Amino acid sequence: MVIKVEHLTHIYGQGTAFEQYALKDVSFEIPERQFVGLIGHTGSGKSTLIQHLNGLVRPTSGTIRFHETDIYSEGYSLKDLRSKVGLVFQYPEHQLFEIDVFSDVCYGPKNLGLSEDEIKMRAREALKLVGLKEKYWEQSPFELSGGQKRRVAIAGVLAMKPEVLILDEPTAGLDPRGRDEILDQIQVLHESQGMTIILVSHSMEDIAKYADRLMVMNHGEKAFDGTPREVFEHYKELEAMGLAAPQVTYISHALKEYGVPVKEDVTTVEEARDAILKLLGK
Ligand code: ADP
Ligand code: MG
Repeated sequence: MVIKVEHLTHIYGQGTAFEQYALKDVSFEIPERQFVGLIGHTGSGKSTLIQHLNGLVRPTSGTIRFHETDIYSEGYSLKDLRSKVGLVFQYPEHQLFEIDVFSDVCYGPKNLGLSEDEIKMRAREALKLVGLKEKYWEQSPFELSGGQKRRVAIAGVLAMKPEVLILDEPTAGLDPRGRDEILDQIQVLHESQGMTIILVSHSMEDIAKYADRLMVMNHGEKAFDGTPREVFEHYKELEAMGLAAPQVTYISHALKEYGVPVKEDVTTVEEARDAILKLLGK
């Protein structure tokens, strides 16, 4: 297990008039190399949850283990943890600040106290991993497009060589093409580097396409946890939480109700296509 969370509860402003339960008794384990999708309505606790995983937010109660060790045990270095559990915030480009792209990506590894050569090597590697062409490296990050800025921000986290990469809605505000490009890059990282991924997303379609596992948060509690296919079978309950299954899941269920003997638990457009072609004997 890379990450193990037990009975995690978080209350913001405890003991004040603004007391707010953000997480209630959440437990789960994440094995190495898993690609986990995390979904839930706004305010359901997703961002609070992931910020616990690299020690940015301290639990009100409960424990968080990284490779079996409690991250709040004595002598444990949260600084080390933060380089191993890389967190890409929502709108990460707001945190770009160096005068050029390359320097910005060097910032993280520089803080790790690595040698100049190692820092530069990691920055180059990370920029290549996110697919940002070399001609941009000397430019100011502020001259780039939205999608490119976001790649720079992701590269900054990758340059720390994390074992786990957590991304908080990395596609928010991007156009469909920018969105697919970022998600495809994440998928490549997952496959080529064996990186464990936790992806916070609003899009059921994206989760169905990329994630091995889906966790659904609702009012600070973990409501569902399983493969996307298992979780989407609860589409009626998901709706009650202000969520929905992928559109093809609805179409296949509707076809089934009309008496069309199609496989109904499809979750991606490709699966739906194959199920329909099969039905047509093609
Ligand atoms: P999500 O990422 O799913 O939208 P959050 O983790 O941001 O959810 O928020 C969970 C709950 O905690 C919400 O009710 C939110 O208003 C509250 N909350 C989040 N951050 C803070 C904070 N810094 N101070 C007080 N309440 C907060
Ligand atoms: Mg959030």
